[in-house]
Amino acid sequence: MEIAPTLYRLQQAELERADCAQRLAQAVAILGDSSQVEAAAAQAKAAQAALIKAQAAVRELELEIQTVKSKKAATEERMFSGKVTNPKELASLQSESEALQRRIAKLEDDLLEALIALEEAQANADAASARLAEATAQREAQVADLTRRRGELEQRIAHLDATVAEIRASLTPDNLSLYEYLARRKGNRPVALLTRANVCSACGVSVPIAIAQQARDRTQVAFCPSCERILHVEG
Ligand SMILES: [Zn+2]
Repeated sequence: MEIAPTLYRLQQAELERADCAQRLAQAVAILGDSSQVEAAAAQAKAAQAALIKAQAAVRELELEIQTVKSKKAATEERMFSGKVTNPKELASLQSESEALQRRIAKLEDDLLEALIALEEAQANADAASARLAEATAQREAQVADLTRRRGELEQRIAHLDATVAEIRASLTPDNLSLYEYLARRKGNRPVALLTRANVCSACGVSVPIAIAQQARDRTQVAFCPSCERILHVEG
């Protein structure tokens, strides 16, 4: 058996498996987090409530203006009916009519403000509703994409698990121990590629010719004299 190439394949499969597992965890985390849509929904709901309140304020003012106008009309009707002849009473009706007119003017100012506020509330509600629709569409696309990616990663992980198990089963206990011992000490990278120029790709140190030849022989296990990793020659 060519030990270094086999250990290198094991290392690469395990590294890829760890990478897939990390990406899978990220995908699962994002899939479970719909906080952006929830925030947009909460804003849309609040904007809708504000709009309903603004509409009610306008209706209330319109109603009050109607009531005060009717009252003023009734006052004036009485004033000009000819039934009231007492000058004092006439003056009192006149002043009441004027007071009602001032009240109407004030209410109409308020109504104008309420209408402007309503317009703003409407624009806010429309914008919030558009943002919610956009966030929902984005989330749907994201969920579809992540669900597909999750499936792919799960499949890839199952495949890598089978590969890793197969390689591990093919190794002697000694070689497996050696691999695991170095994996623990070398950040899960116990095997380094030896370049054509006989440089260890993990630590960048030039490897003596005798060791490089041993590595190129492939039936023997050669170690980098600097970082102590197993040297593997591709090809
Ligand atoms: Zn090295």
